[in-house]
Amino acid sequence: MLAHEIRAKVARGEVSPLEVAQAYLERVRALDPGLGAFLRLNEALLEEAQRVDPSLPLAGLVVAVKDNIVTKGLATTAGSRLLENFVPPYEATAVARLKALGALVLGKTNLDEFAMGSSTEHSAFFPTKNPFDPSRVPGGSSGGSAAAVAADLAPLALGSDTGGSVRQPASFCGVYGLKPTYGRVSRFGLIAYASSLDQIGPLARSVRDLALLMDAVAGADPLDATSLDLPPRFQEALEAPLPPLRLGVVREGLAGNSPGVERALEEALSVFQGLGFSVKEVSWPSLPLALNAYYILAPAEASSNLARYDGTLYGFRAEGEELWRVVEETRARFGLEVKRRILVGTFVLSSGYYEAYYGRAQAFRQRLRAEAKALFAEVDLLLLPTAPHPPFPLGGRPDPLAMYREDLYTVGANLTGLPALSFPAGFEEGLPLGLQLLAPWGRDEALLRAALAFEEATERAFVKTPMGEAL
Ligand code: GLN
Repeated sequence: MLAHEIRAKVARGEVSPLEVAQAYLERVRALDPGLGAFLRLNEALLEEAQRVDPSLPLAGLVVAVKDNIVTKGLATTAGSRLLENFVPPYEATAVARLKALGALVLGKTNLDEFAMGSSTEHSAFFPTKNPFDPSRVPGGSSGGSAAAVAADLAPLALGSDTGGSVRQPASFCGVYGLKPTYGRVSRFGLIAYASSLDQIGPLARSVRDLALLMDAVAGADPLDATSLDLPPRFQEALEAPLPPLRLGVVREGLAGNSPGVERALEEALSVFQGLGFSVKEVSWPSLPLALNAYYILAPAEASSNLARYDGTLYGFRAEGEELWRVVEETRARFGLEVKRRILVGTFVLSSGYYEAYYGRAQAFRQRLRAEAKALFAEVDLLLLPTAPHPPFPLGGRPDPLAMYREDLYTVGANLTGLPALSFPAGFEEGLPLGLQLLAPWGRDEALLRAALAFEEATERAFVKTPMGEAL
C-alpha cells in the first residue's frame, strides 16, 4: 500500500497506527538482513505508535530517516565511526515536523560516510544492496533510504541531496526522489556536508506520497537562516489541471548513456507530448563542466564542516595525554573517501591555489546559474537522465573518479539551487531507470504535477515492488 492509502485507511479507522508500525517492523526484521538498508531501528516505535493520536494528519505513517539527519535520543552516525555512539540531544526540524503531525521514525538508514559517495559502499558499517538485484548497489549516498522504500520496508523516507544523493538512489531503486529548491526544507539537524548545496529530500513510491511528505516538512524555519518562506502547496498543486507546458530536453554530455536510458528518454518524450507538452531540444552548455566545479566546491565546504570532529565536541574521542595526538587519532577514524575530500578541500582553499580552483569554481557556478535562468525563459521544465545507466555491481567503481562521474546529471541542480525530481521511467535488463525533471527556482510543485501526469499516463508501469508489499 502507498503512504497516502495507508493514511486514508487509518483515518477511516480500518487499521491502527500500532498495526501499521508492527507490520513494518516485522517486515524490516525479516527482510533487511539481506539488504542492509537500516543501520538501526527505533526501539521505542511500538510504544510511540500506541500513544499517537489517530486523528493527526500523518498518524499511522512510519518514516525511514537517513542517518545524517539527527533524531533526538536515537543514535545518529552519518555512516561514520567518528559518530558511532553519538546520541543527539536535539531533533532535526524535518523530523520534529513529521512527529508533530503524527508520523513516527521507523529507523535510521545507511549512507555513504557523511553522505560522500554514490553507492552507499562508503558506509563505515556495511554496504546496502539493491532490492532489484542484491549484487548491485542501491546508489548513494541515500542508498539505505531508497532501498528501504523500494523494498517497502518503509512507505516513506527522508534522504539528503548535496550532489544527487536523493535522486540517483531513487533512480537506481525505481522510486521517486525530490531535491527541493535550496532552502525549501530546513537544514537544521542535517549533519553538514557542503552547506551551500545540502538539502533534505523525500523518497516514496508515488508522486502523491512525495507531496504528502513535502507538505509536512517544507517551509520557513527560524533555526535555519537559509530556509525559504515559501509555504508548501504540494498536495494542492496535484489537484490543479495540468497546464500546457514547454519541456526542454537537455542533450549535453549525453553520449555515454546506456541504450536503456536513451530508450526511456525517447519514450518519456512521447508520453509528455501525448499529455500536451511541447517538446524541444535545448542546450545547457556548461552542464558537462558542473561535475568539475562540484568536486572542488563540495570538498572545500566539507573540509571546513568536518573540522568540528576533533574529539572535543561530538562522538568518538581517542585516548591520549597530548591534545594534538587526541585530535590526530580521533580524525584517523574517518574513512578513506572522507579523508580524500578533506585533503582536496583543504588544498583548493589554500593560499596560492584558492584563485585557481575555488575562485574559478565559484565563478563557474554563477555562469551555470545564468545559463539555467536563460533556459527557463524558453521552457517551463527541463528533462534529462538522472544517471547514465541502471545500477552498477557492488565493487564496480573502484576508481574514485569513475564514482564521481556517476553524478554527471545530478550536480547541476545543487550548484544552481534549482528543484529536481527523479521519477521511475523504465527498466534495462530488469533493473530500474529514472529520469529527471528540473524546474525554475521555487517551482517544486510544478515538478510533482508533471511527474503525476506521467505516472498516471503510464499507469505506474515503471513502479515495481520487487520484494512485495508490507500491507
Ligand atoms: N555523490 C555525490 C558526492 O559524493 C553526492 C553526494 C550527496 O548528494 N550527498 O559528493
